[in-house]
Amino acid sequence: MKHPVFLILTIMIAVSLISSSPDKRQNDAKIQGFRWQTEQFADTKILRYKVPGFETLSLQQKELIYYLSQAALSGRDITYDQNYKYNLLVRKTLEAIYLDYKGDRESENFKKFVVYLKRVWFSNGIHHHSSTDKFFPECNKEYFASLLNGVNSRNLPLQKGQTVEEFITEITPIIFDPKVAPKRVNLNPENDLIASSSCNFYEGVTQKEAEDFYSKMKKEAVKSHQDTLISYGLNSKLVKENGLITEKTWKTGGMYSPAIQKIIYWLQKAATVAENPRQKAGLEKLIEYYQTGILKTWDEYNIIWVKDLDSMIDYTNGFIEVYGDPLAKKGTWESMVNFKNTEATKRTDILSKNAQYFEDHSPVDPKFRKKEVKGVSAKVITVALLGGDSDPSTPIGINLPNAQWIRKDYGSKSVTMDNITYAYDQVSLGNGFIEEFAYSKEEIENVKKYGYLAGNLTTDLHECLGHGSGQMNPGVSSESLKNYHSTIEEARADLFALYYIMDLNMVRLGLVPSSDVGKAEYQNYIRNGLMTQLVRIHPGKDVEEAHMRDRSLIAHWVYEKGTEKKIIEKVTKEGLTYFRINDYDGLRELFGQLLKEIQRITSEGDYDGARKLVEAYGVKVDPVLHKEVLERYQKLNIAPYSGFINPVFTLKMSENELSDIAISYPEDFTVQMLYYSKNFSFLPARP
Ligand code: ZN
Repeated sequence: MKHPVFLILTIMIAVSLISSSPDKRQNDAKIQGFRWQTEQFADTKILRYKVPGFETLSLQQKELIYYLSQAALSGRDITYDQNYKYNLLVRKTLEAIYLDYKGDRESENFKKFVVYLKRVWFSNGIHHHSSTDKFFPECNKEYFASLLNGVNSRNLPLQKGQTVEEFITEITPIIFDPKVAPKRVNLNPENDLIASSSCNFYEGVTQKEAEDFYSKMKKEAVKSHQDTLISYGLNSKLVKENGLITEKTWKTGGMYSPAIQKIIYWLQKAATVAENPRQKAGLEKLIEYYQTGILKTWDEYNIIWVKDLDSMIDYTNGFIEVYGDPLAKKGTWESMVNFKNTEATKRTDILSKNAQYFEDHSPVDPKFRKKEVKGVSAKVITVALLGGDSDPSTPIGINLPNAQWIRKDYGSKSVTMDNITYAYDQVSLGNGFIEEFAYSKEEIENVKKYGYLAGNLTTDLHECLGHGSGQMNPGVSSESLKNYHSTIEEARADLFALYYIMDLNMVRLGLVPSSDVGKAEYQNYIRNGLMTQLVRIHPGKDVEEAHMRDRSLIAHWVYEKGTEKKIIEKVTKEGLTYFRINDYDGLRELFGQLLKEIQRITSEGDYDGARKLVEAYGVKVDPVLHKEVLERYQKLNIAPYSGFINPVFTLKMSENELSDIAISYPEDFTVQMLYYSKNFSFLPARP
């Protein structure tokens, strides 16, 4: 699971008055003058992140990071293709125009074309990375055709014998027609989820056929006493060919083989400089999995990986998160390379050590609590490179592996990406957002004082305890909730965090100075869930993305249930809407009640219960309030989404021997994207 930016809002708030540890203040001094934001286009801003501490790693550790980062970049094309089967065709076409077009490059139209190209890079395809709606160039078809005619046709991804005219006819609807592939992931159950989603995980099969295929696979495994815990379908495309439904597995010799071979090449190099035998064994197991596509091997790999707690360097690499599939089976390729932030990890160590306390006192039905919480390991990390689905837009925390049974038997690894949240903070200092939407001066002050600490701790609680908490009834799997699974799972983790951020034990454990920290989190969460996250939604649209639905669900549910006691009150001041929390303990109790219900839904696999909750509280938008929020937000001129330019690692040689690896921080998003496309594109433009 990944934990995306808490709507960047918590983070924007983050004028961290009190939370500057000495460690962090040192960083401030060192990196003053660093340009955190390089540009803004459409609804997106491009940021950079620093990698403090890289220089102090040993040469072998740097080498390991280098090889892992090459592996992380080698799968980039896979993510594009998984998102939509013509994404690579579109990207390669746009890049050819960008590199080769000799006409007027200063015209308004060309600038609009470039914005479209940047948006495609940013989303790894033609659908918005968050809403998954198709987006469109602001220049028109005729202009686009003129660009194609102004490029040397040898640079275009033409089919054999295809003329440029024919190519224009082929690609124009892919880019411009709102009826072609309108949505990457459709979660509206009124339609066949597969037919109405344009992600590239199924072809020629209906939702029913796909569901039957996998439930049959599972039944057969039960019958033959084989492993029933495997994440069936995780690493393949399901297709119907000649009337036969079959899986095309992503492995050496299978689908995506050219890119996977490159990933393997770099992982093999990484294994030669592993820090210890366990890490080496993990890398070798991952290579074996990529070579064979056997999902049992993937599980074996994850068990090694989750136990690897001693290594300084760590990584994710694989088909991992299932948000990109409406049936939540297929893993989108992603990678991230990082190393431990030893100082900040002391905070998460305290949480991990007390994991059993949190589980035992959680407000859920005792039969759904874990009797014994195993191996919740949490750490704060410094990201060194983002790849695949995590690039350029990245989560700020992750908790893996996703397989429930591994989490139960072996634990999970939870990480908070500190240098990423730090970059967000730096960008957001003083942009006026909190002043606009917070109800009172006291609230603004409290949130400025404690918001950053509260946000970090809530992320820790969500990742390190929330996702790992609770247990399922026998025979229930996470797939039972289908299209509602992700939203419910995120709500469960959020509620766990919200319930405990206000726990007196947080003060006793020395994690917070007072309950004002919890209050800051409640203020941010309610304001965000009821109001400010709407800045990411287009007028007339529903809330779609799982984490946004989760926040909307929680905030609207507690608002409604607390109406009578005025726990949260809607206030109008000078014609503007605010939400004021009157009773923090009452609010905490409501969070606990909802957590209890959501844990029950999860444990029992109650699809109907999930549907009712999500549809009633998580999806719909009040159009009047939405309009007001958008108007207020527009005045601030802040792009609601952010993504990152990666650092660059350069090998330093001395007399043919590697002597050091230098890190640098490029400033140009376009240059980086073109560099990646030139050096890490291993899949063909066409399916
Ligand atoms: Zn999460």
